[in-house]
Amino acid sequence: MRPRKVPLRKCVACQEMMPKKELIRIVRTPAEEVQIDLTGKKAGRGAYLCGKVSCFKLAKKTKALDRALKQHVGEHIYDQLEQDFAAVEEQFIAGKELVSDEAE
Ligand SMILES: [Zn+2]
Repeated sequence: MRPRKVPLRKCVACQEMMPKKELIRIVRTPAEEVQIDLTGKKAGRGAYLCGKVSCFKLAKKTKALDRALKQHVGEHIYDQLEQDFAAVEEQFIAGKELVSDEAE
């Protein structure tokens, strides 16, 4: 076993603990907008999801984001996020492959 200092976060949909960089952050901004935060650095309350559309769909079904962000997230916002999510998924996976070499 090798020591790990990877910060873990929980996916709000499937409840799995994962390294932060394996997750996509959803943020509720101070302006109360809910959006995807690929940088992980935006101000606001964050919730994490695995970079998988299936987990996003689960979160939508169970309203997991409402609970995690402590704010009602409207159906249309989930729809918008789902579109954005699908668009960033590819980018997210590509980014992960880029950093995987230096990480180990
Ligand atoms: Zn998940």
